[in-house]
Amino acid sequence: MEENIALNLRRRLLQWYRKHKRDLPWRRTTDPYAIWVSEVMLQQTQVTTVLPYYERFLTRFPTVSALAQAGEEEVLALWSGLGYYRRAKLLHRGAKTVEMQAHGRLPAQAEALKKIPGIGPYTAGAIASIAFQKAEPLVDGNVIRVFARLFALRGHSRDPRLQKKVWHLAGQMVQGKQPGDFNQGLMELGATVCRAVSPACERCPVAAFCRAKHLGKPEAFPENPPAEKIVRLTRAVAVCEREGKILLVKRREPRWFQGLWELPHDYVPVPEAAETSLKHFLHRSLGIRMKNPKKIPLTRHSITHHRIASHAWHAQITGRARPKQPLEMLDFFSIPQLKNTALSNFDRKVLKAGGLLKTEG
Ligand code: SF4
Repeated sequence: MEENIALNLRRRLLQWYRKHKRDLPWRRTTDPYAIWVSEVMLQQTQVTTVLPYYERFLTRFPTVSALAQAGEEEVLALWSGLGYYRRAKLLHRGAKTVEMQAHGRLPAQAEALKKIPGIGPYTAGAIASIAFQKAEPLVDGNVIRVFARLFALRGHSRDPRLQKKVWHLAGQMVQGKQPGDFNQGLMELGATVCRAVSPACERCPVAAFCRAKHLGKPEAFPENPPAEKIVRLTRAVAVCEREGKILLVKRREPRWFQGLWELPHDYVPVPEAAETSLKHFLHRSLGIRMKNPKKIPLTRHSITHHRIASHAWHAQITGRARPKQPLEMLDFFSIPQLKNTALSNFDRKVLKAGGLLKTEG
């Protein structure tokens, strides 16, 4: 890349970012731990979704040490509803490592950051550049899109060759003052102007340098990745109630969320088999029966390329509940307790559809 182009592009992006950046809580701090938490939460997740979680998480765990000392159950409960729970577990593990090895102080260099569990090249670049002002690049989906368009790069966003090129370009361009603002400017541009669909080129600060725009087809870059085959699954789910409390279980080997509580459920080949299979499952794995089960409206949920339909029933139960294979533990939770329990989003949806949790809960 020619040096004067890089300089001009950089300058314009920085000017634009300072003027137009959204006021977000993690932009009001240089605390590397707070930036770490925000970057982990923001992976695959919208800013508006993250905001309340971020505030709650940092109020409860304001430092690396506070997080390191917490139990996993509480960390997952505070993450509950945000999805991608592996992130929370790795963040927790990372905090324990930093606490043990460096008394809670995060290193400033990206290479050292990458050695902490759960911190990959993107998060290391974010912490090093934003908290410590190191000229380290970062590349996420927004940055790939912006660079692919600016330089009309071939390939789709998951193509390692395109990603390598973008890392290289980002590494060249981050050199200079305010690397943290430069990186955030790139991501902000991708999130608010250079959107995947209908990019707002007319108000783009770097439009003069953009090859994709000059070619008249910004949306053609990057190319669409090959579509993943959609897998459809049907779940039969039980909302079992006893004395006003709801039964939750943990599996030895859950399909999705290790460590989370879940409603008792089984996967069935067809929806017509759901109620009968569920009754067998409850009897076999818990030793209980549902009394006059009432159907809960169908709920749907997506996890990666899986589309999951939950057919659920709500009932009082008879029998003494005891977990057997594939379940390993159970407990009963009052409705207020459920709100703060580490429970997956698709089970929350079922409870909301059954009127047991409020929509905002
Ligand atoms: Fe994106 Fe359009 Fe700006 Fe190019 S000109 S970077 S396509 S918003």
